Amino acid sequence: MYYGFDIGGTKIEFSVYNTELECVFNERIPAPTDDYEELLDALDTFIFQADKEFGCKGMVGIGYPGVMDPENNTTICPNLPSLHGQNLQTDLQKRISRDVKVQNDANCFALSECFKGAAEDAEIAIAVTLGTGLGGAICINKTILSGHNFGAGEFGHMAIPGTMLQRYPELPLTHCGCGGHSCLETYCSGTGLAALYKFYKTHIDGSCSEEQALKGPDIITAYEANDAVAVKTVTVFLDILAAALGSLIMILDPHVVVFGGGLASFEALYSQLPEKIKAYVFDNMKLPQLKQAKFGGEGGVRGAALLNYT
Ligand SMILES: [Zn+2]
Repeated sequence: MYYGFDIGGTKIEFSVYNTELECVFNERIPAPTDDYEELLDALDTFIFQADKEFGCKGMVGIGYPGVMDPENNTTICPNLPSLHGQNLQTDLQKRISRDVKVQNDANCFALSECFKGAAEDAEIAIAVTLGTGLGGAICINKTILSGHNFGAGEFGHMAIPGTMLQRYPELPLTHCGCGGHSCLETYCSGTGLAALYKFYKTHIDGSCSEEQALKGPDIITAYEANDAVAVKTVTVFLDILAAALGSLIMILDPHVVVFGGGLASFEALYSQLPEKIKAYVFDNMKLPQLKQAKFGGEGGVRGAALLNYT
């Protein structure tokens, strides 16, 4: 059996998959936010209960919202203080007497799509999660590309292309939580879309009250109703995303780009983005297929379980 954990900022999801990759158990509990021992207790309780239930010693994979510190293999995840700076892999291995695999959650999401998902047949797949932030991952032949510092695929923190500032000179230069400036996720994510809307509402209409500051789904609805500010916002959003994906395509030449996260159902990603991307790649290039994730919210926990599948 394959056990997967998706540890988020507020919850822990645990699933068990059989060898056919069918989910045979799933449960969510609130994540202990401050107490690391409590977090470990929660994980090993799930594991030992599942061992008993399924009469086996399941293989354990964990996805979490952060990256590994390349110096000492501790987890860097400021959004979950109970896990930040801890050596989860070593500590849990000691408790449960078996190997544990630990990975960034966007990488788990991407891996999940490579097995019976939207990237099933892709030799090179890029995954982009458009949620609160922008997560990224690269899989090559169904294997996660981790990189020299476990940092491969952190597309959200590359600066937006300079051509965007030429095309939209009014664009605000942003500060990102990572310490960088004008990172892609500060424009192209749920939070970024809302910030762009607020900026253009003020820029076009002269002001933007708290009530007028729309969030993701409402901005999409306003865009579909031809609201001028929403149309401008979404046009710029798609253009920045297209330019960034164009750069990634010139580097990796992927076969498939998979979108996940709350904005992945936005139809324009599939109908308009390909045409826009063409402006940023060689004329004769075949574009990758842009696809919506098949496993949606399950992708993180499923991908964590799959860390032991190959
Ligand atoms: Zn950043």
